[in-house]
Amino acid sequence: MKLKKGDIIVIIVSAVLLLISFFIGLAIKKDGKTVKIYEDNKLIYEGSLTKQKTVKLAHNTVNIEDGKVCMKKSDCKNQICVHKGKISNSRECIVCLPNKVIIEIE
Ligand SMILES: [Zn+2]
Repeated sequence: MKLKKGDIIVIIVSAVLLLISFFIGLAIKKDGKTVKIYEDNKLIYEGSLTKQKTVKLAHNTVNIEDGKVCMKKSDCKNQICVHKGKISNSRECIVCLPNKVIIEIE
């Protein structure tokens, strides 16, 4: 079987399309979840859950690592936010009432 020029173009185009859709799929998967951190009703930080990041606020320190987010430190009395531990699912949130800090995953 001998390939015609047209056949080669079709093969190349479909290979490229396959590659593009693969990378788009990968990008969507990576940016699937977004972490939003609010302090005093203001959006302080917004970023991907897969991106490692430590966000320092006035009274709290938020740690984003391995697709999970947690309140690493807080100077509030009850420490409920710190004890909540790591969250990774959409619609989950960590709230620090005394410091008016909300961490949510979308
Ligand atoms: Zn707290």
